[in-house]
Amino acid sequence: MVDKLKYFDVPFAGLSLGNHTYKYTIDQSFFTYFNQQMPQCKFEVSVVLNKQPQILNISFNTVGEMQAICGRCTDEFIMPIVAQNQLLIKFGLQAAEEDVDVMVIPNTETHINLAQYIYEYVMVAIPMHQVHPTDNAGRSQCNQTFLKQIEKRKDESAQLKQQTSDPRWDILKQLNNNN
Ligand SMILES: [Zn+2]
Repeated sequence: MVDKLKYFDVPFAGLSLGNHTYKYTIDQSFFTYFNQQMPQCKFEVSVVLNKQPQILNISFNTVGEMQAICGRCTDEFIMPIVAQNQLLIKFGLQAAEEDVDVMVIPNTETHINLAQYIYEYVMVAIPMHQVHPTDNAGRSQCNQTFLKQIEKRKDESAQLKQQTSDPRWDILKQLNNNN
């Protein structure tokens, strides 16, 4: 593993039972360790690890924002991203993934590295369709001038299409030509 990601190691074996909190701040450089190019972004990840005798219950609370390009008006905007995830770690003879959020790790392990989980949770939280959010009054924060221009252009090209494909125009043109 990349040395930089060692920062996300949690030495659970030495922990007392109960809750332990960890806070991480990540930006676009974090994602390069996973060969993922990200626009400018920043996330605060708050992790609470609840240690029980045979189980680790880990909750991730991620709040952040990233630069995005609006799919509606093409303006750049800052997209807020929040994610809440729960991970259950059990102990067994060998590592296994029991479920999406239930992992088994070997009894002999003393550390768990959270980087991969944080990476996956953020990636899943990024919406496929990226558009300006609405404000408190429910209005879209899209660039309205740009949207109006697009609408106008659509109207114009629709009119033009109508004109050129209108058979009456062809008849008129023919009449003119004959004169
Ligand atoms: Zn927009």
